[in-house]
Amino acid sequence: MTTQIDSTQPGAVFDSSKITVIYVLGGPGAGKGTQCAYLVEDFGFCHLSAGDLLRAEQNREGSQYGELIRTYIREGTIVPMHVTIKLLENAMTEALKEKEGKNIEGWADGKGRFLIDGFPRKMDQAIEFDRTVCLSSKVLFFSTTEEVMLGRLLERGKTSGREDDNIESIKKRFRTYENDTMPVIQYYASQDKVAQIDSTVTIEEVHNAARETVQKLFSEKQ
Ligand code: UDP
Ligand code: MG
Repeated sequence: MTTQIDSTQPGAVFDSSKITVIYVLGGPGAGKGTQCAYLVEDFGFCHLSAGDLLRAEQNREGSQYGELIRTYIREGTIVPMHVTIKLLENAMTEALKEKEGKNIEGWADGKGRFLIDGFPRKMDQAIEFDRTVCLSSKVLFFSTTEEVMLGRLLERGKTSGREDDNIESIKKRFRTYENDTMPVIQYYASQDKVAQIDSTVTIEEVHNAARETVQKLFSEKQ
């Protein structure tokens, strides 16, 4: 028997010995997007935010999912997993095609590295993505208090234009995070895949901790 960790998944679209998938989790407003941008600079990741992909699909003319996505996002609940997983898989395929043959560090010989931000937020998504798309290598878990997250979200809400950066939606998102996403983090923690990083401190301090974790992962993988 092979263990789940460090094995490739037969039947998955991407081979996890070549494609590194790091999930980036943490409550709404924990700083996932901000930190991902730094890690892209450091390591040449392709950064895929599940929420951004859903919002793009919601706004795509002719999308059959537009209204459904809008409702789930406003209610702070999780869009049915097949929609999100397909969007992620398509974006990964596109990124690999786009970077192919360009000799970019981390992307030669069919290799690739992805930060999947804000996903998986629910157990069913975690199991399904690992099994059918690509087995993940690590979870970066940015954690801070609800008070800090609320402050950041309300600040962001002044300019973000996001339909869910208002107090009613934020409260619902916190609840979904506790009920649906915390079990995902516990599941990966039981597999020793989680690096928990306190994101209450300065952006730079959080970045340093995140960079070290990723550096260590890549040095173990090679
Ligand atoms: N969402 C979802 N499935 C996912 C990721 C996001 O349904 O796998 C929806 C969910 O309604 C969530 C919203 O998209 O509340 C916004 O997600 P995003 O990651 O953009 O929020 P953030 O955590 O960055 O504030
Ligand atoms: Mg985000």
